[in-house]
Amino acid sequence: MVVKIIVDKDKCIGCGRCYDVCPKGPLIWKRDKDKKYYAYDTKYCHNCKLCTGRCPTNAILIIKEGV
Ligand code: SF4
Ligand code: SF4
Repeated sequence: MVVKIIVDKDKCIGCGRCYDVCPKGPLIWKRDKDKKYYAYDTKYCHNCKLCTGRCPTNAILIIKEGV
């Protein structure tokens, strides 16, 4: 599955819940220099949407591509 994960940096508070809840957390999520999270490698994402459900500020948008 090809997905695009967009994190709104203005909304992200760097809580790390996306990383913690994601079954592939260490493969997909990384923290940037501002301590905010971004999806580093989305090829491991299976679009379960656990991260979007857990994000307290609704900062994550997942778009399924090429289907
Ligand atoms: S949709 Fe699921 S697999 Fe993809 S980044 Fe979010 S929690 Fe991880
Ligand atoms: S769960 Fe949301 S607010 Fe928390 S680090 Fe991830 S994107 Fe940022």
